[in-house]
Amino acid sequence: IKEEGRNEYQIFRHSLKEGVKEQLQLEAELHKAMQNHDFDLFFQPQYDLKTNRIIGFEALCRWFHDEMGVIPPDQFIPLAEKTGLIIELGEWVIYEACLQNKKWQDEGLPKVKVSVNLSAKQFLQRGLVNRVSQILYETVLEAQYLEIEITESMAMSNEYHIIETLNRFSELGVQVALDDFGTGYSSLQYLSQFPLNKIKIDRMFIQNQSEQNIAIVKSIIHLSHALNLKVIAEGVETEDNLEFLLNEQCDEVQGFYFSKPVAAQRVKDFVDF
Ligand code: C2E
Ligand code: CA
Ligand code: CA
Ligand code: CA
Repeated sequence: IKEEGRNEYQIFRHSLKEGVKEQLQLEAELHKAMQNHDFDLFFQPQYDLKTNRIIGFEALCRWFHDEMGVIPPDQFIPLAEKTGLIIELGEWVIYEACLQNKKWQDEGLPKVKVSVNLSAKQFLQRGLVNRVSQILYETVLEAQYLEIEITESMAMSNEYHIIETLNRFSELGVQVALDDFGTGYSSLQYLSQFPLNKIKIDRMFIQNQSEQNIAIVKSIIHLSHALNLKVIAEGVETEDNLEFLLNEQCDEVQGFYFSKPVAAQRVKDFVDF
């Protein structure tokens, strides 16, 4: 038994070491990727359920690696957060999203919003609002066509600073959506205190239509409307999902049922757009 225990320990230590090595490698690769401009943005349309029109696109970051191919954000965003590289990457994402949106407008496409995801570290960084304001100026994009998505988890950290930052975004005219709603430590107090424009129901509640989740979605929609907030549901994959959300007077939808995230040059292919 002792022998076995030691082996297990050694196996564990071995895999731990391997894991650390992999992380360090990935971290070095991430720095290289930043310098080589190996990142790109994909865009997923968001639809208004009343008008059936596209009202925005969510910008989602992709890493194109020479050997490993496309690395999904779930694999490098947390690492970028940990290493602080998220500040540089995140700023690039905002700049690129604004620039792209302005390009579409210049090409004569209907004006819509572009939404960018902000990580906690990025949101709490000093000077963020000034930097965003500068980006809007440099890309000549009107503030109303930019939306930021923040998550509940960051809403918990430093309440005063967050309200202050959100107020400044709102003065600037930038829209604010609360992402992944329902998965964090939701507090009703935050919902009414934060200057938000929109609540994004997490896709987990849409995709697993258990009796409980149905009840949760219904109450998130009612609550949001009572607080004068718009509601968007993400992860809409089926006609059933859509019908349910239409019935419940959800405002907007996004998901594979309509489109996967696509490259910027494919955005003009959307028919009713
Ligand atoms: P998120 O913000 O919740 O983004 C939605 C994710 O759900 C995207 O995954 C999208 O491709 C996926 N999705 C959309 N519709 C459906 C659907 O109908 N079914 C399913 N199963 N999935 C759907 P993606 O692009 O892999 O991004 C994952 C997460 O990585 C994002 O989750 C976001 O938290 C983070 N992320 C992506 N880009 C950025 C970025 O530029 N900055 C930061 N800070 N985070 C980012
Ligand atoms: Ca998001
Ligand atoms: Ca989300
Ligand atoms: Ca998420």
